[in-house]
Amino acid sequence: MIKDIEKTLIEGNLRFQWKITQDLENLEVEEKIPKYPVLILTCMDPKIDIHRIFQLKPGDVFVLRNAGNVYTQDMLRSILISIFDYHVKYIIILGHMDCGMTKFKLTELKKKLLHKILSNSLSNNSDVFSETRQFFKPIVDELRNIKNHVEILKRLQEFFPEIEITGMLYDVNTGWVFEYEKFKDFSVIWNFRRQYETILTEKKYQFIDFFNTIEHEIVDINDLVKPLKESEVNDVEIEQFPKKIVGEHAEISNISEIDKKKKDNSENERQKFELKQKYKVQGIIPKIKVPKIQFQGVKIHIPNIINKRRERMNKD
Ligand SMILES: [Zn+2]
Repeated sequence: MIKDIEKTLIEGNLRFQWKITQDLENLEVEEKIPKYPVLILTCMDPKIDIHRIFQLKPGDVFVLRNAGNVYTQDMLRSILISIFDYHVKYIIILGHMDCGMTKFKLTELKKKLLHKILSNSLSNNSDVFSETRQFFKPIVDELRNIKNHVEILKRLQEFFPEIEITGMLYDVNTGWVFEYEKFKDFSVIWNFRRQYETILTEKKYQFIDFFNTIEHEIVDINDLVKPLKESEVNDVEIEQFPKKIVGEHAEISNISEIDKKKKDNSENERQKFELKQKYKVQGIIPKIKVPKIQFQGVKIHIPNIINKRRERMNKD
């Protein structure tokens, strides 16, 4: 019942209002809207929360969404408004892995319904299949879809040479976002998945480097946090390499599974070696442990490497 949904939403809003009164939330936004001259075109998949995954605030960027983050006339309308009136300079196509639009099937029912709903705008004697396909815009491959749309939107540069366009790929299962550079050389998502372990290894190194840059922020949190007793600290591993990603796509190639694995492994090992060289890390890739610390009902994660460094500093 929509009344139940309405009740849930309004209760959520009351909770939001309560947080405003407690200064746990605020509606302040930068004077300049958007704060960053950025427009992100992404999928309507409810698992994607742009502000959360990039740790942005309301007012920071424009977000356009539809099924499969595809280019349409209406998207163009909003993009042009953002360029003309809000001086947007960067457009990002953020696609995601496991997009539902790759599984979209045009059944007879959908075709019939569509013809009834859009009887005025669809021509009577045209090819129903291609028209419905054109209308729903199902996508074949998430990665290729991003690359196609980057190319489509780059046509805008003819009129707005200062606009820059790029793509990003989000993994809804791990929370990682991959820059265009990391996946643009793969032809399809399947090939990206085969190298996923290596790609994530590089992300781990980025992650460790990043901790060094925000260490002071985390240490500041310590002033507010009363750490739990040793017995209450619960070590949790932050993330592991996905053990098996191939799954349903395993039959694409003619090479046998064993040959494929051997090839992938040696390729992965070579790339890991190069990464180690690049980041000058010796030995096994470090695992990041994250202890759980309770703070008035809020969990704050502080990585072990930070704690160890802090202990070291205290000793000195
Ligand atoms: Zn999607």
